[in-house]
Amino acid sequence: MSKITIDVNRCKGCGLCVEACPKKLLMLDNENLNDKGYSPAAMTDITKCIACAFCARMCPDCVITVEKD
Ligand code: SF4
Ligand code: SF4
Repeated sequence: MSKITIDVNRCKGCGLCVEACPKKLLMLDNENLNDKGYSPAAMTDITKCIACAFCARMCPDCVITVEKD
């Protein structure tokens, strides 16, 4: 299975990763704010992640790390 790490407090909620994911697995967590006051990116279903790392490459702030077992 893939492992996605989101460094939540560095996220600026731009949504580029949400758009980049071909499986539509990322969302902006509108129920929480990070230390910067943004709704951070969040994973919805890690079991469907194909570890393509499009999300990580798209993020301008290197917030997301993708690992594959
Ligand atoms: S690694 Fe690929 S499939 Fe997994 S969350 Fe990122 S963009 Fe989506
Ligand atoms: S692309 Fe990066 S900064 Fe933008 S919402 Fe996704 S994780 Fe946050």
